Amino acid sequence: MNNIISQSLTDLIKNIKDKKISSEEVTKSFIQRAEKSKKLNCYITEDFENAINKAKKFDKKPNYDSKLPGIPVAVKDLFCTRGLKTTAGSKILSNFVPTYESTVTQNMWSEGAIPLGKLNCDEFAMGSSNETSFFGNVQSPIDKNLVPGGSSGGSASAVAGQLSPITIGTDTGGSIRQPASFTGIVGLKPTYGSCSRYGIVAFASSLDQAGPMAQNVKDCALLQEVISTYDPKDSTSIDFKRSHYSEELTNNIKGKKIGIPKEYRVDDMPKEIEDLWQKGIQYVKDCGAETIDISLPHTSYALPAYYIVAPAEASSNLARYDGVKYGFRVKGENLIDMYEKTRSEGFGAEVQRRIMIGTYVLSSGYYDAYYLKAQKVRKLIKNDFDEVYKKVDAILTPSTPSSAFKIGEKTNDPVSMYLNDIFTVPVNLAGLPAISIPAGHDSKGYPLGLQIIGKAFDEQNILNIAFAMEEKINFKNKIADWWIK
Ligand code: GLN
Repeated sequence: MNNIISQSLTDLIKNIKDKKISSEEVTKSFIQRAEKSKKLNCYITEDFENAINKAKKFDKKPNYDSKLPGIPVAVKDLFCTRGLKTTAGSKILSNFVPTYESTVTQNMWSEGAIPLGKLNCDEFAMGSSNETSFFGNVQSPIDKNLVPGGSSGGSASAVAGQLSPITIGTDTGGSIRQPASFTGIVGLKPTYGSCSRYGIVAFASSLDQAGPMAQNVKDCALLQEVISTYDPKDSTSIDFKRSHYSEELTNNIKGKKIGIPKEYRVDDMPKEIEDLWQKGIQYVKDCGAETIDISLPHTSYALPAYYIVAPAEASSNLARYDGVKYGFRVKGENLIDMYEKTRSEGFGAEVQRRIMIGTYVLSSGYYDAYYLKAQKVRKLIKNDFDEVYKKVDAILTPSTPSSAFKIGEKTNDPVSMYLNDIFTVPVNLAGLPAISIPAGHDSKGYPLGLQIIGKAFDEQNILNIAFAMEEKINFKNKIADWWIK
């Protein structure tokens, strides 16, 4: 069968179930594509031989009742995979082989998916451009000079470039939605507590969430259905009634009330983004929904609060990398010297910057002024959302304040890099679900995304709105082929 790699997940599943293609054929097609796409630098670890063997095994004894029957999937290298190197994009974990499997990846393998390998990401998921990875930057399949976004940049490029039919990423402040938006794909950040964090390398534990990235909304819904389960192994996992997201997907959003927050109209926002937002408003209206102007007054404080809370939690989480556990060690004259040398060499510049900010804002004398204040601001941001959700069912905003930027453009200006998260971080601070869908192109042909933010546990609703809009938008990704060998 031709064009296996360009098929959606839904079509691949159907064709496998109808015995038109085998898992082996599908797996080999994506592997071939990956072999030809080395320039994108999507993979940190390839597990292709094992993947082919697993696919053959599936074909011999297929279970067509599983949700991802024989579907090959590569995942962000932040998910621990038993027996397969897991680096989090860092030198300090460059030879770490976990003895356990993350719950979300296990959920996929239990539903018949075949692991292809581990995808590049910003170091410890800290970044917006996939340039902080110890394993080099990822390139965008859209244009040679563009970043794919971050931190799930390898995941985004792999789906947009058709190296993996779907993938999972993590989103602490936007790392699923922003790269999805930059590469013209769909990315969902679920409600905090929806997907287990067990076995995910921790960045900021009160914000981290795993989520699906896919070519379209239906595939995204199906993957969410697979990965979102209650997990007693994660104390913050929540036992709520999850819908069958893909089965219950509907484009009927008549009568839904969609909030348009005025605070997301930021200074210097390109006209193209404003125009895209207006188009989005028109699309939801065309679908029979009603838009309502709303205010989320504390939005402008979200970014500074995030860049206190996230580094604070990161500095604590990353204390465990001391050269004693996890493999990487630089010899020292004594224990302290060994710690210092291991951490100075093992962590990259951005991670060190965050550890320093984090320890500073948590230190005695500054704790009240920074960390505690940020936590209070976080509560106010959450209250803003609670208030507007008395009137609206969901909120529509742009996903990012610009289209993808150039490689190297913001590397030496961390603040301008951080500003890229302005529309995504409030959602993480409030623990809400949000989805980014491709909604248009800028004048250079680069993709632009729209974000739909939902109430807690209301993934089905935002998936439905996204599904209805997707039909109207009829987006076609403009993938270049400069990288193909
Ligand atoms: N870009 C944000 C940061 O660097 C978000 C990262 C993420 O969501 N993992 O913190």
